[in-house]
Amino acid sequence: MPEWWENEFLQVKNNKLYLEGIPAEEIARQEGTPLYVYSLPQIKRKYQELVEALSPLKPLTYHIHYALKANANQPLLETLLSCGVGIDAVSPGEVKKALEVGFPAEKIFFTGTSLSSEDLRFALSIPGLYLILDAVELLPQLKALTREISSDLPLKLGFRWNPGIGQGFNAKVITAGASSTEGIPIKFGIDPHRLEEAWKQAISLGFQPSGLHQHLGSGWTGSDFPVISQAVERLVRTAQRLEEKWGPLEFLDFGGGFAPRYQADQSLFPLRDYALTIKNKIQQSGLKSKLLIFEPGKFLVAEAGLLLVKVEYIKSSFGHLFACVNAGTFNSLPRPAIYPEARHKVVNASCVHSSQPVTLTIAGNLCETGDVFAWGVKLPLPQPGDILAILHAGAYGESMASTFNLRSRPRAFYLT
Ligand code: PLP
Repeated sequence: MPEWWENEFLQVKNNKLYLEGIPAEEIARQEGTPLYVYSLPQIKRKYQELVEALSPLKPLTYHIHYALKANANQPLLETLLSCGVGIDAVSPGEVKKALEVGFPAEKIFFTGTSLSSEDLRFALSIPGLYLILDAVELLPQLKALTREISSDLPLKLGFRWNPGIGQGFNAKVITAGASSTEGIPIKFGIDPHRLEEAWKQAISLGFQPSGLHQHLGSGWTGSDFPVISQAVERLVRTAQRLEEKWGPLEFLDFGGGFAPRYQADQSLFPLRDYALTIKNKIQQSGLKSKLLIFEPGKFLVAEAGLLLVKVEYIKSSFGHLFACVNAGTFNSLPRPAIYPEARHKVVNASCVHSSQPVTLTIAGNLCETGDVFAWGVKLPLPQPGDILAILHAGAYGESMASTFNLRSRPRAFYLT
C-alpha cells in the first residue's frame, strides 16, 4: 500500500525515499544539506489538477494568478509562466521579479497593503499593471501622483474589499472579517460600507474601477466550504450592485486560500463544488463581469518542494527523544515555528518504515524553543547521518526564511 503522500514525485523503493526517481540520500550526498528540493514536473501536475478541478466553471472565463509570495524562485516561476498563469504580487519587488521572468504586466495584479507613495509611483510607472487598492484613503494621493508624473496611461484600478467574513488555518492568516479569531483587527480590504464611496470617489477623480477583489485567508480545508460559499455569495451580490450603478466590471477576483494535503487526516477543500457554486451564483445574478481570477499560492507549489536535513545526533531529555538536525525552522521552513497548526509530514529518507517506530521531536539548530520542525512524530529511530525529508515545504518556506542566528538559508536544487 503506498503512503498517503506518495505520488509521481515522492516514492518509496527498497525502504528509501526517491524523488522523481532519484534516491533522496544521493541528492543529499551530492548537493549537501540542508537543501530544498523542488520538482518542476510536480508544479505542472498541480497546475493541471487545479485546471481540472475548476473545470465546472466552464463556459465562464477564468485566469489563475499565482501568489508569488509563496515561492519566488526563478525556475518555479518559469515553470508557472510556461503553464500560462498570471501573478498576484504584493510589493514592487514581487512585480519586478515577475516582469523579469517574463510575465506580461497585463497579467500581474499588484495587491499590496499599507502602500507608500513610492509603491504607488512604482505601480503608475508600469503600463498595463493592475493596481488593486485596499484603502479609499489612498485615492487622493494616487490622483496627485498621476498629475505629478503626468501619466496619461489609463490606470487599471481595482479595489480589494473586506466582505466581513474570512477563513484560514490560523488566526494570523485570516484576512477578512472585523478581527481574527485571536482578536487581531484585520487590516486588509475596504469596509463594505465604504465600497460605494470608493467607486464614487475614484470616478470623480477620473479613474474607472475595473474590478473587485477579495482574499479571505489561507489554508482552507473541507470544513471551510460553507463560510467560503457565503463569501462567494457576498462578492457576487456586491459586484452586481456596483455594476447596476456604474456599469460592467472587467473582473472579479476570488483570491487564493486552498490548502494542499499536509497530513493524512486533513480533508481537502472541495474545489469542484467551489467552482460550481461560483458559476451558479454568477449565472443566477446576471453579472456582466465574466473574467474570474483565482490566486493560489500553496496549492501550486507546496507539494512540489521539500527540505532535506541531516540528523546530527539523537538526544534524550526529560523522557523526550530529539532528532537534532542541521537546519533551523526560521532559516528554512518557519511555518511550524510560527503557526502551531502547521504540521509538516517528516519522512526518514534513509529508512522509511520500521516495525518499531519511536516518537520524536525534530529539533532545529537555532536558539529558540519553538525551533522544532515537528513533535510527536513516529519514525524509525534515525541514525546519525540519516537524511530526513520535511515534506510539502515548497510554499512559504524559502520565501519566509531568514538568517536568524546568522545561520544561512539552505540552497535549492531543482528536479526537471
Ligand atoms: N492572494 C493574496 C492577496 C494573498 O495575500 C495570499 C496569501 O497570503 C494569496 C493570494 C495566496 O494564498 P494561498 O497560498 O493560501 O493560496
